[in-house]
Amino acid sequence: MITPVLPSYARTDLAFERGEGVYLYTADGTRYLDMGGGIAVNGLGHAHPVLVAALKAQAEKLWHTSNLYRIPEQERLAARLVAATFADTAFFCNSGAEAVECAIKMARIYHFANGNPERYRLITQEGAFHGRTLATISAGGNEKHLKGFGPEVDGFDHVPFGDLAAIKSAIGPHTAGVLLEPVRGEGGIRALPGAFLKELRALCDEKGILLLLDEVQSGMGRTGKLFAHEWAGVTPDIMAIAKAIGGGFPLGVCLATEAAAKGMTAGTHGSTFGGNPLACAVGNAVLDVVLADGFLEQVAQKGLRLKQQLAMLRERHPKVIEEIYGEGLMIGIKCKITNTDLVSGLLAEKLLSVGAGDNQIRLLPAMNIEDAQIAEAIAAIDAACTKLGATL
Ligand SMILES: *Cc1c(COP(=O)(O)O)cnc(C)c1O
Repeated sequence: MITPVLPSYARTDLAFERGEGVYLYTADGTRYLDMGGGIAVNGLGHAHPVLVAALKAQAEKLWHTSNLYRIPEQERLAARLVAATFADTAFFCNSGAEAVECAIKMARIYHFANGNPERYRLITQEGAFHGRTLATISAGGNEKHLKGFGPEVDGFDHVPFGDLAAIKSAIGPHTAGVLLEPVRGEGGIRALPGAFLKELRALCDEKGILLLLDEVQSGMGRTGKLFAHEWAGVTPDIMAIAKAIGGGFPLGVCLATEAAAKGMTAGTHGSTFGGNPLACAVGNAVLDVVLADGFLEQVAQKGLRLKQQLAMLRERHPKVIEEIYGEGLMIGIKCKITNTDLVSGLLAEKLLSVGAGDNQIRLLPAMNIEDAQIAEAIAAIDAACTKLGATL
């Protein structure tokens, strides 16, 4: 018999009652070190006092009015995101997939508005993840996500990961732009080199097409800059963000330059819930913390420390760990054993991690994780690798 909750997830049989910082607690009080961070969503950990206060204060004033009216908290969040990024304007939605969906629509209508409606196709990378809506599974091109959901949404041309020559030769008269993750997430953590992004930016300019970045996972400070593309010193035309911008409250944003947003006039796009007062109050509180002096620097430093210590574990456990990838606190451990076995081994040590493609496990902890908690994670990973290694 089917479960009341649609059985579309392969869930771990474990539930939590409360969280505090990087820790989660089950109803019987067992403590877990959360190095998965709700898949890069709990960027400031659980129950951060600044976020809790912002949500409580807004909850007592106003929850929702719809986008039929002005929403002051949304206007404030938009202005702050614009001030902190390449963007001139922001569209608010409720998830990563919706933010990417908006980016795709915006790229199409940009060329339509410029008199080139035939330019509707986006070049994307194999192994990418852009969400689970019909258009975003087509953008991702993962057979596992597409199977049974045909016909595919037309308009995406897939090229191998990190292959600039392939992108170049895929550009044709129907190309609207290139969409990619500057640091790949679900497909297995892998950062695109800065030189790649620089050359890609120049290529897009040369061909008159748009550069769309999906920073749903890599954004909001995770790599030690507010957005991962800042490391390369280039800016996109359109960018999708979500996950950590809401710190656990559903919130997605599509950011764009004024030029790229040309076609998005009144009535072209919308969302009932998008950018409602509750979500934007939390989004503003997240920015208060992430943009505070020194916050991003400490993410970079802690990421470096974690990565160095993981590299030492790789030396100690060469039969378990193959390679360490990632930037800042967005780290992938490529396994020699089956990655799900390492996730289970870590769970036995009361440490939560997230699987990924490329036989990796991901560590995406709260960005305010403390050094002692990093040491605790390393000890747990060491213990799990020792046990798993002994059985090989
Ligand atoms: C998680 C993710 C998405 C989809 O976000 P949802 O909120 O699950 O719709 C899209 N792109 C990337 C890079 C992601 O990591």
